[in-house]
Amino acid sequence: MSDIKQLYQEVILDHNKKPRNFGALDNPSHKAEGLNPLCGDHIFLTLQVRDDKVEAVAFQGEGCAICKASTSMMTTNVKGKTVEEAETLVQEFRDMATGKLNVQKQPNHLGRLAVFEGVKDLPSRVKCAILPWHTLHAAFNSVATTTTENEEEPMKSAGVTI
Ligand code: ZN
Repeated sequence: MSDIKQLYQEVILDHNKKPRNFGALDNPSHKAEGLNPLCGDHIFLTLQVRDDKVEAVAFQGEGCAICKASTSMMTTNVKGKTVEEAETLVQEFRDMATGKLNVQKQPNHLGRLAVFEGVKDLPSRVKCAILPWHTLHAAFNSVATTTTENEEEPMKSAGVTI
C-alpha cells in the first residue's frame, strides 16, 4: 500500500471514530444543509463568522465514511480562517477531487486535506468528499439547502434547492 493510501485510510478511520466539531452551534451566523442523494449523505453545518473570520463551525448528520471524514477535516481546517481563505480551500478541494488540481505539482493550501486526492479515481465518491465543502460555500452565501444531485460542476450551481 502506498503511503498516501495508508494515510488516507488512517485519516478516514480516525475522523469516523472521533469526528471533530460534531454538534450544532447556538445562534449561528450562517448555516446550511447539504444533501448527496446518490449516496444518502445528509449534513447540517452551523457557523459563527465574526469580523469575516470563521470563529466556530460544527456539523451534524448522517454520511458515509468519506463524507464524515471530509466534513470533520473541513471543520478543523476552516476554523480560524477568514471567509476568503476558506473559500480558497473550497475551490482547491473541489479542483483536487475532480482531478483539475495536482496537489503534488501545483501550489495549493490544502496541506493534510491532500489525503483526499485519491477520490478523483473513485467517481461515485467524489460527491461524498466534496459535499461538506459545497455546503460550506452555500452557508457563506446564505443558501439554506444545497444538493450535489445532477451536478457536473457543483460549485457553479450552489443554490439549487430541492
Ligand atoms: Zn457518501
